[in-house]
Amino acid sequence: MRKLEEVLNDWEAVIGLEVHAELTTLRTKMFCGCKLEFGAEPNTHTCPVCLGLPGALPVPNRAAIEGIVLAGLATNCDIEKHSMFYRKNYMYPDMAKNFQTTQGPVAFCMRGWLDLDVDGPAARERHGLDALEPGQAEGNVTRTEEGYTAHVGITRIHMEEDAGKMVHVGGGEGRIAGATHSLVDYNRAGTPLIELVTEPDLRTPEEARLFMQKLRQIYLALGISNCSMEEGSLRCDGNVSLRRRGSSALGVKTELKNMNSFKNLHDGLAYEICRQAEVLEEGGQIYQETRHWDPTAKRTIVMRVKETADDYRLFPEPDLAPYDLSDEFVEAVRAKLPELPDQKAARYATEHGLSAYDARHLVDHRATADFFDACMALAAAEGDGSRFAKPLANLIINDVTAYMNAHEGFDLAESPLTPERAMELVRLVASDAVSSKQAKEVFAAVLAEDKSPEAIVAERGMEQVSDTGAIEAVVDEVMAANPDKVEQYRGGKTGLLGFFVGQCMKAMRGQGNPKVINELLAAKLDA
Ligand SMILES: [Zn+2]
Repeated sequence: MRKLEEVLNDWEAVIGLEVHAELTTLRTKMFCGCKLEFGAEPNTHTCPVCLGLPGALPVPNRAAIEGIVLAGLATNCDIEKHSMFYRKNYMYPDMAKNFQTTQGPVAFCMRGWLDLDVDGPAARERHGLDALEPGQAEGNVTRTEEGYTAHVGITRIHMEEDAGKMVHVGGGEGRIAGATHSLVDYNRAGTPLIELVTEPDLRTPEEARLFMQKLRQIYLALGISNCSMEEGSLRCDGNVSLRRRGSSALGVKTELKNMNSFKNLHDGLAYEICRQAEVLEEGGQIYQETRHWDPTAKRTIVMRVKETADDYRLFPEPDLAPYDLSDEFVEAVRAKLPELPDQKAARYATEHGLSAYDARHLVDHRATADFFDACMALAAAEGDGSRFAKPLANLIINDVTAYMNAHEGFDLAESPLTPERAMELVRLVASDAVSSKQAKEVFAAVLAEDKSPEAIVAERGMEQVSDTGAIEAVVDEVMAANPDKVEQYRGGKTGLLGFFVGQCMKAMRGQGNPKVINELLAAKLDA
């Protein structure tokens, strides 16, 4: 198969996402008083309602309705005041009622959007950007200095309930294939679930990944879900189809399942785009089917041919009255909206003078944003205001984020790098006590040895030498030892400056202040 970049030169991928989030922070289920608890003893949180026993009547959970309205307001949706619940019929043991209670054509939240900022190498996967100047827009894309912003429509967010969990016994890795029997746990049945459906506005796997990441940040900020892709409280399916560049007709789409991490979401979509391109280029046909992403085999496999909406025989739920949300209710929920990631980024830019790029990457993770806030609170208490905002942002975006990416499960809030130590490190660099290169070593040592930056610098004798007299002596020595190079430099080969800096640093065993070395060298060589 061809590579994604090559495929995207000839084909345009049309991607839409369906994102399910369990409202895990609620205490009880959607239509009954059963407790919500992940990992509890099987079938200990059930009752006649969530087991669908005859005569049991559902009562909607008001807190869950608040949760979905929060989600809608935070994603720029219109809140529909009048909507109702429907029965989606299906026969499978994971739902004892044989139907799922969900919403019909009108959901609580309709017509929303999110803007995605894409930069880095993946920004090149979007076609036609080269023709645009920063600030210029085409379709749903606006070119920016570092990449582009994609405006992604949200069709709706509707409320539904989760099904129970099947456990297949005797097969490989809990799969149904080869299993001797299956067990069912109804603890999860009836868990409030919100499903967000995007417009088919996404064009690259990276955009899909960023959308999911941004949505997760918003839900976490709202406190409506723990958004654990591992535990399945945040799940994502992707629809993808291809069309020739320049064509506006939609191709046949496949639905991808089992993309239970950001990486799997990206890789699954990338694989499926390349697979479809290969089939189409060989004159084959794409079938509307549901496919399963297998991250180990790195391919997608057919699960089933797609059902049509008619198969579910959706009809109004007779046991639940249509919903009428009052203006007061919606406004009361709006008043509970916390500061959202985009607002936080805007505040970092105005309050601390950070670039849009830095501000955005700080809010990529809630942990890094919280850490930045804690550090800036310390700086404010010390009377430093925003003086160290930029170097601190650099430390967090470069070093801390790289460390987080390399160490799965790393918890910044519980790590040896406390806000106090981060500020200490930033101050050491700002005062020229250590070079930015040494700072990387100190950073790694703080995390590895759980000591303060000052203690590490003292222990390792790392203090940077900024003493002009000491550095001048070294500069003189280096110039005296390389008269030929000095002559070449003065003859116009100014690129040799780097050589001299390197020699001076070597002579000072890396402890010379590079700024001072550069200044003195330039002054003496140009003399
Ligand atoms: Zn129940």
